[in-house]
Amino acid sequence: LIISILFLLISVSVIIAIAYIQIHHERLLSPGLKYGIVLDAGSSRTTVYVYQWPAEKENNTGVVSQAFKCNVNGPGISGYASEPENAAKNIDSCMKKVISVIPFNQQNSTPLYLGATAGMRLLMLKNESAAQGVLTSIENYFKTQPFDFRGAKIITGQEEGVYGWITVNYLMGNFLEKNIWSTWVRPDGAETTGALDLGGASTQISFIPEKSEQNPNNTLEVTLYGYKYNVYTHSYQCYGRDESEKRLLASLAQSSQGKPYVENPCYPRNYRVNLTMNHIFGSLCSASYRPATYNAEHLINFVGRGEPAQCMEKVSNLFNYKSCHGKQDCSFDDVYQPKVKGGFSAFSGFYYTASALNLTGNFHLNEFNSSMSSFCSQEWSKLPQILSRFNETYARSYCFSANYIYNLLVDGYKFDSDSWPQILFQKEVGNSSIAWSLGYMLNLTNMIPAERPLILLPMKP
Ligand code: AMP
Repeated sequence: LIISILFLLISVSVIIAIAYIQIHHERLLSPGLKYGIVLDAGSSRTTVYVYQWPAEKENNTGVVSQAFKCNVNGPGISGYASEPENAAKNIDSCMKKVISVIPFNQQNSTPLYLGATAGMRLLMLKNESAAQGVLTSIENYFKTQPFDFRGAKIITGQEEGVYGWITVNYLMGNFLEKNIWSTWVRPDGAETTGALDLGGASTQISFIPEKSEQNPNNTLEVTLYGYKYNVYTHSYQCYGRDESEKRLLASLAQSSQGKPYVENPCYPRNYRVNLTMNHIFGSLCSASYRPATYNAEHLINFVGRGEPAQCMEKVSNLFNYKSCHGKQDCSFDDVYQPKVKGGFSAFSGFYYTASALNLTGNFHLNEFNSSMSSFCSQEWSKLPQILSRFNETYARSYCFSANYIYNLLVDGYKFDSDSWPQILFQKEVGNSSIAWSLGYMLNLTNMIPAERPLILLPMKP
């Protein structure tokens, strides 16, 4: 009897152990989490992202998520052109936090990438040695950090566009899904979403057009998980939010020369501010408006008028629509663009502006228009009550930004009242930010397998 009871007990224990291992095998066998760090060195600021994923699922889709994000204080790295030795100083407090997020024994195997965008592309054109000085200073700083530093690079506008498109589609799970046989396949009727990114110095549009593309210059062939995608992408330099507003202020100042102040129909009524000539005309994007009397430190006094109709007219002059000569498939500045198709995700500056107008997710074009005109006719003193977070620099510019977005999306990209509601104004999916940085890391760490590695190739004609 004792032997039978013992046998029974052993058998039950073995069954329980097998069941436990079956249920928890992933965790038991798992070598834990892996990490990757990307610094998005934008024109207006630098953001540090830490991503994490379970090591054993490296090549599955949708497994990488954002573990930590830190906004670096101060301007973007291109703002350190005249003092490159200080370019990494403010990054250090974010990096201290990153060190506390990533386990000590994994730090030296954690890849770290820095990608700089249009702010540095412009500095490279204006003053190449200053741009190199900033990058070198940053590289020297990261060599002192405990991570696997893989370089500080200026990425192209096309890369910025296509990596944003990869990020949003990866986070939405549009590339692959598990079928009933537990194998990964492309979702049935697979549709990808387009990406609209409004940065400070440039803006990007990326999507898969209806017809296979005739214009190889603007189309990249991307191979992801064995499937080919021909992504139309275009990056408009000087059409970022901040640079566009500088162009507006510069054109207003040019046409008010000799007057004691410059009226701005896009600033709220009763708002006044003094801005330096350097702030307005110092950029390559607004240099053509520079007056003969240019003096970098000289102040120009701007007065807000809160005139929605006039603001719309002045903003539309920032785009050269005539250069399209009525051609279809042309946005502005004679840039080729096929007809927009399907859903779009509008993030970064698009999201901030819509959210200031109390609009997020998707909504109708006439809702956007009415929120924009009511916001644009507000007095400056009313804005602290209207905006949930008040910051003078952002608050004075939301009316401009809303008009800018209208012109860009409707008159430029040709969204209409039918296609506009298919744009989702969002900043994240789950808890991961939508930004080119995730797509950049997925590519550079080869985490999206292709039959051949992911390659970004201009299409052959
Ligand atoms: P970024 O996503 O940092 O490249 O910023 C894109 C644009 O949005 C830039 O023009 C920034 O000045 C602007 N921006 C960034 N954060 C905010 C915010 N919280 N509210 C309004 N605008 C913002």
